[in-house]
Amino acid sequence: AAKHAGRGCLRYFDPAMQAAVEARSRLENELREALSDWQFRLVYQLQVGEGEHALGAEALVRWQHPRRGFIGPNEFIALAEETGLIVPMGRALLERVCLQLCAWADDPQMREVTVSFNISAREMGEPDFVEAVIDILQRTGVPARRLKLELTESALLGDVDDIAARMHRLRAHGVGFSLDDFGTGFSSLAYLKRLPFDQLKIDRSFVRDILEDNVDAHLSRAIVALAASLGLSVVAEGVELAAQGEMLRTFGCSRFQGFLFGEPMSAEAFAEALHTAAARNTVPGVLAD
Ligand code: C2E
Ligand code: MG
Ligand code: MG
Ligand code: MG
Repeated sequence: AAKHAGRGCLRYFDPAMQAAVEARSRLENELREALSDWQFRLVYQLQVGEGEHALGAEALVRWQHPRRGFIGPNEFIALAEETGLIVPMGRALLERVCLQLCAWADDPQMREVTVSFNISAREMGEPDFVEAVIDILQRTGVPARRLKLELTESALLGDVDDIAARMHRLRAHGVGFSLDDFGTGFSSLAYLKRLPFDQLKIDRSFVRDILEDNVDAHLSRAIVALAASLGLSVVAEGVELAAQGEMLRTFGCSRFQGFLFGEPMSAEAFAEALHTAAARNTVPGVLAD
């Protein structure tokens, strides 16, 4: 229970709740500071295709906190969404991703890399979302086909026709769309029917137990078949074991992302890993997606 103590100030009798409220408001202040001082970093995780060719990377945000070190997105994206900070933050991140793609365009080994970037509900719902993305692409000179936007079902909660229209406008420029964490929501199939996706990502929760759990194996196989029949590409997320990759391959999945192929790393480390792999001939080169 809470009572009002003075002007707009809430006091909680429950000390645990009081502490949680204080922690949240501290995090919010720190997040604002992080945005103005730019304490965010992008890391890139390899996505591989047929024969382990590199297809590109998923860009993932990290918060380099001045005292607490690296903080993962699961600890701050939700709050960034609630406070709306995700909007300026996401745009600044996308611009940095595009600048990175520009830098890689001069490197023959990196030239064909595509990058997937995560978009959350609040960002997608901004009235000028489409214009903002196109503006960033144009200012940085990145070909739109280098960029894929990953949406989870929670990013699709708004008006479906409106979201479809936005996706169509960006697709007309060449931007791709991937349905992230596929299978974890309640209405994935309805979204597939109405929204123009290019790709499905099989959620990590299915891949994790695929070797032990028959249900997960059947569901993964069904998702791969569904993607194929709809003409969508499919990526398996969270592949940690060679045997998981092998099983997914027998289901017809040929695109993978996971610690088996590489952990998320700095742009420099990512480029170096691709160069090293190419030199050793383990990753024959970057193929156009
Ligand atoms: P996601 O888009 O589904 O990203 C995949 C997550 O799985 C990443 O966690 C990645 O590090 C992790 N992962 C990849 N391979 C493996 C594996 O083999 N094993 C295990 N155990 N984990 C693996 P991360 O980086 O902590 O990101 C969590 C979520 O935060 C992302 O899930 C995405 O929804 C969100 N996120 C990340 N970056 C951004 C961003 O720039 N903007 C927005 N709006 N959301 C972001
Ligand atoms: Mg993602
Ligand atoms: Mg995912
Ligand atoms: Mg996820």
